[in-house]
Amino acid sequence: MDINNNEKGRISVVGMGPGRESMMTQQALQAMDASDVIVGYTVYLELLGDRFAGKEMLSTPMKQEAERCRMAFDEAAKGKSVAMICSGDAGIYGMASLMFEVKEELGSNAADIEIDVIPGITAASSGAALLGAPLNHDFCVISLSDLLTPWELIERRLRAAAEGDFAIAIYNPSSKKRHDYLQKACDILLEKAEPERACGYVRSIGRDGEEFRTCTLGELRDTDVDMFTTVFIGNSQSRIMGDRLITPRGYRL
Ligand code: SAH
Repeated sequence: MDINNNEKGRISVVGMGPGRESMMTQQALQAMDASDVIVGYTVYLELLGDRFAGKEMLSTPMKQEAERCRMAFDEAAKGKSVAMICSGDAGIYGMASLMFEVKEELGSNAADIEIDVIPGITAASSGAALLGAPLNHDFCVISLSDLLTPWELIERRLRAAAEGDFAIAIYNPSSKKRHDYLQKACDILLEKAEPERACGYVRSIGRDGEEFRTCTLGELRDTDVDMFTTVFIGNSQSRIMGDRLITPRGYRL
């Protein structure tokens, strides 16, 4: 694509799915193909493999998300077409909202730069598929990361989800500093849900080392998971069938 210095470029915020290329949408692949530069966290750039070798790639370390967005706007202001990549869906614990906020912060300097959000397969969806059908009724998604959200609010949402008998997909269940957060979350859920509640978890979806397991809520409480894991809590009707986790839709057989 020609770079035209008189024209402002565009930014696509691209959800690249969980990892492997076959789980990226055509729209995501086209946005990356059409871009002059791909911006992203190093791990995600590495996940792209050789598919976009030769393209300009820019990265900032983790926790410099706003800086990464500003970098994308700097490149777009030069007239380039920029793909900012996120794992899963760009608008689910991703960079899409921050990109709009940074555009607002930059004011007239970024006014002409358009933002496109390209959806991707989020971990709740790709992980659910491996487990079977754990989210096949009303469900909610809760992140246990308290980096940007007060823990009290996370607790309130866990209680509300259990009270509402939602199936739950839990993101960010653990990190080096928060290794006991899943245990704390299970203790809150156990105030309403029985220890036999059907649950499961999926690790490294679409990446090397992919694995899924079912367990009860009581067992989950004592399970160590890492930050590359998505956890599934069934609702009161969920069942473990063989090695899969199923939440019935309610059809009568
Ligand atoms: N935007 C991403 C979520 C980012 S938050 C998405 O839509 O999927 C990071 C959390 O997402 C991780 O802690 C984990 O709970 C989950 N996650 C993201 N990619 C994953 C993968 N490949 N395998 C398992 N869990 C994943």
